[in-house]
Amino acid sequence: MISEVIESKDLKKVAPVFGQLSFDNHEQIVFCNDKDTGLKAIIGIHNTVLGPALGGTRMWNYNTEWDALNDVLRLSRGMTFKSAITGLNLGGGKAVIIGDAKTQKTPELMKRFGEFVHGLSGKYITAEDVGMETSDMDLVRSVTPHVTGISESLGGAGNPSPITAYGVYMGMKAAAKFQFGTDKLEGKKILVQGIGHVGETLVDYLTKEDANVIISDINDERLQYINKTYGAQIYNGDNVYAADMDIYAPCALGATVNDTTIHEIKAKVIAGAANNQLADEVRHGYELQEKGIVYAPDFLINAGGIINVYAELEGYGKDEINRKTENIYNTTLEILDNANANGITTHQAALNIAQNRIETRKNENSK
Ligand code: NAD
Repeated sequence: MISEVIESKDLKKVAPVFGQLSFDNHEQIVFCNDKDTGLKAIIGIHNTVLGPALGGTRMWNYNTEWDALNDVLRLSRGMTFKSAITGLNLGGGKAVIIGDAKTQKTPELMKRFGEFVHGLSGKYITAEDVGMETSDMDLVRSVTPHVTGISESLGGAGNPSPITAYGVYMGMKAAAKFQFGTDKLEGKKILVQGIGHVGETLVDYLTKEDANVIISDINDERLQYINKTYGAQIYNGDNVYAADMDIYAPCALGATVNDTTIHEIKAKVIAGAANNQLADEVRHGYELQEKGIVYAPDFLINAGGIINVYAELEGYGKDEINRKTENIYNTTLEILDNANANGITTHQAALNIAQNRIETRKNENSK
């Protein structure tokens, strides 16, 4: 009976892992299951040429396990290039836990997840991502040293989100300079989609600079809170992408620039924190370029968080973290200029630099 199912044509057509569209020569993929705590997680290790694979853990209520696998494959690959372009000696990895972080996350589940991370002996180092808090990383720390983003009281660099937001702000200013001739954001209509950990601090920077900030989120409580605290206006139309805006800042989940939205987006700049903003990084990259929309590559401008957690491993302090993150402004401008001069997409220009660094190290390692 089982062999009949395995032999069935439909299942043969499905490429379980190595044939997934998002599979990009990942080194290792680990499926973690624990009946007692209900843990179902996938750890993706994309590339470890530059160092151990570091990347956060996301807890999300995926529609299907395929979606979770697809997400971890895409996210871990993105981490490889993020660390490479930022000049860090880290590889790319990421983990996803399948479930609702609000109702299914327990200390036992987090510790059990930490034990799986520990089993990889440091090849993968975890950190915080969507659905995680610093306190969750502290729980993971109780069972493994291979975790960053733990509380400052435990010797960690704390929550990486504010520094991520600072990097996004720097990248956004650089993209504005390229597109509008000035990096001053005063009066610019900026739509921040997703006002969680990163989005909130970004809104703080933007409102302090007197930008005209519009916010969107699926969480109404957050909207009310951010509106009250920072005076940002809540978007109340029915299609956020088509809203009248100069800059679109995706700070929720990925793939929001896709076949549908690309025809709706009115912004002239896209610069935000979300990972994998382009559903198809090649095609949508070109389409944005053709439309004259400047896209600040996500893995470049949202690197503040990884710079922050890298400090924990390397032992450098806040000044160095800020200096490295501020430099995202210069790198973004260089990449936008480079893409323009060479007629390639901004995403490709950033990817080229990251891939060259990995190739160079690979060649050095093999000597
Ligand atoms: P978070 O979970 O704190 O916030 C995400 C917010 O997005 C929440 O308020 C949620 O309600 C909202 N949201 C979810 N779906 C939405 C939708 N369809 N429309 C509008 N809002 C929606 O996450 P975060 O830590 O702020 O991270 C935001 C993004 O930035 C994620 O994609 C994450 O991977 C990326 N990122 C975060 C960091 C970091 O340091 N936290 C670093 C790099 C990249």
